[in-house]
Amino acid sequence: MVWNPRLWNGPDMGYRGIEGIILRRRDIFENDQEITLLTAGEGGLKLQAKHGRSSQKIYCGRLEPPNLVRLTYYQSREQSAKIISRLRIVEPFAELFDRSSIRRFIWPLLSLYADLFPEGKGPEDCYQRFITGLKLLGGGAPPVLVATRILVRTAVETGISPDFQGCCNCGETAAGSWVLSPDRGLYCPVCRPAVKPEEFTLPADLRRAYMVLEKVRWNRINSFILTEETLVNLESLLYRFFHYHFDISMLAFQLRNSL
Ligand SMILES: [Zn+2]
Repeated sequence: MVWNPRLWNGPDMGYRGIEGIILRRRDIFENDQEITLLTAGEGGLKLQAKHGRSSQKIYCGRLEPPNLVRLTYYQSREQSAKIISRLRIVEPFAELFDRSSIRRFIWPLLSLYADLFPEGKGPEDCYQRFITGLKLLGGGAPPVLVATRILVRTAVETGISPDFQGCCNCGETAAGSWVLSPDRGLYCPVCRPAVKPEEFTLPADLRRAYMVLEKVRWNRINSFILTEETLVNLESLLYRFFHYHFDISMLAFQLRNSL
């Protein structure tokens, strides 16, 4: 085939500008890289960076997760790939964290978001909150609280979180040892005999912690205290939600290590 620069640079190629958080990066072909970009309006886009690995490095260091970037891309006609033509960093989040904190708190979130939000409709609220959370983490906020709050709100906004306020059978709101049924309803201590054996017991403090994390404002999060036991239970609860609804089996939450 004859090389035709118009295929790559013509005005009819439909260049598009978009902003997003880099969730994943991997090497492809000889010298290229592919990133998964979480966007507010279109979910996770897969984009290719030509020569992303070469030593000439126009993308040097910029394709690192979880950088917030603004880029322009076009759709390749020969392949169905989206090719990045320009890229600049809006927030260099990758520089704000050392490797261990990225691995511990941010990587599980990046991995979860890449699975939860494929290309399609964008998770506007989750996207904005993720950026706010990353800024707070960069500013020294307690990572475990920020990460847990992001997870709880993500469960709420993706519609997989049950109503924690009252019993799904009788409406009771009192404290006590509640259970989460396999059908995702929350039952009070009185109604719990009706629930099947695969139930998950929610100690009173776990239910309270979940409701606080659901509602708490970012500027109040520093004053919220989680015990290790509650955190471990919370982690297990969130794992159940995401695993049950999205069949995500590789969630490596390590929140408890951070206390
Ligand atoms: Zn009840």
